[in-house]
Amino acid sequence: MKTRYNNRNLNELISDCKKGDNRAQMELYKRYYKTMFNISFRVLNKIDEAEDVMQESFLTAFQKLDTYRGEVTFGAWLKKIVINKSLDILKTRKSLISLDASYEIADDDGGEGYATPEKLGEKGINAYQSAMDSALQIGINILESGGSGADAVEQVIWYLEDNPLFNAGRGAALTSEGIAELDASIMRGSDLNAGAVTGLTDVKHPISAARRVMDSSVHVMFSGSGATKFAKEQGLEIVPQDYFITEKSKRSLEKAIHNDRFGTVGCVALDKHGDLFAGTSTGGITNKKHGRVGDVPVIGAGTYAKNGVAGVSCTGQGEYYIRISAAKEIISLIQYKNYTVEQAARDVIYDQIDAMGAKGGIICLDKDGNAAMEFNTSAMFRAYANSTGERIVKIFPDKTGSIPISP
Ligand code: ASP
Repeated sequence: MKTRYNNRNLNELISDCKKGDNRAQMELYKRYYKTMFNISFRVLNKIDEAEDVMQESFLTAFQKLDTYRGEVTFGAWLKKIVINKSLDILKTRKSLISLDASYEIADDDGGEGYATPEKLGEKGINAYQSAMDSALQIGINILESGGSGADAVEQVIWYLEDNPLFNAGRGAALTSEGIAELDASIMRGSDLNAGAVTGLTDVKHPISAARRVMDSSVHVMFSGSGATKFAKEQGLEIVPQDYFITEKSKRSLEKAIHNDRFGTVGCVALDKHGDLFAGTSTGGITNKKHGRVGDVPVIGAGTYAKNGVAGVSCTGQGEYYIRISAAKEIISLIQYKNYTVEQAARDVIYDQIDAMGAKGGIICLDKDGNAAMEFNTSAMFRAYANSTGERIVKIFPDKTGSIPISP
């Protein structure tokens, strides 16, 4: 009997199925289920959901088999059912974005100070809040329309790099020699591909250079003049060094001669395809020595993303983040010790970074969209939004110093 069904040609099988022959249905299923599963998996990226879609699609197909009259191949007819069901699920998925810029304020004498609402002033607070809000909107628009998390992360950071309020791109922190040397990185959680650039002095958007390294090169990190050459080949905009330098960054350098400052920008996104992305961009630490490389371009220190686990972007004193592989540490705590995203972020910021006497912050989104934003600086500009309309923009600590968020 088995051979009979195995050998049967497709039209015979279909016509037996139409008569309700279960074994013919089973044979059709056997012939097509792998292809249909793969099609659904390519859209949904989740094994369990793709399996459900595949099963349901066959049920639907057998129920409405009478409507199939051979206008297209049977495979194409089935594929359409699978794709429609997969897209229906995609529409119900949430997308999420979270971004940050840490902040530490200098006292007038250049000593370490604490950012307070008074010091930042109403104008300052409004300016930062509205910039964070615009950045958030850029990201959520891309994700809402089903766009990729890579585009969301790149465009959000692109905007923050253009905005001189932040320590990335224009307005970036300066080296002890008064030069802007920029670092950036981006990582894709689906295949752990990543791109990073360090020591850029003339590429307008370091995050785009990092993205091109990830998408269009076999390498992971480019530095200095090689990074510029690569960016030029990729058609990215090159600007004179003056472009990056602002009055504010010059003043910060004057004040910081004996003291370090920081304030990087980062973004993590979970898109509707279930892919996690993380990106980070910075001028580094004010008054850093020429050629110093921080955590931002070091994959695993300042940035990490792994589908099925979480995406992480870090800000703060990069040397310490490198020493504990901070971003990857969070991923490992979640993956191997079953920590929640909040527990993992708190562990790294308070039990590790703070314990070493260092300062900074972390934003994380896990695979289910739970977010955590932890910091031990006196403030961290931070924002979060999801496709169900939840939206948060904050600067100063909550009572707990954190904002755990569930989707
Ligand atoms: N982490 C950055 C660095 O060390 C600085 C920052 O976060 O502001 O280069």
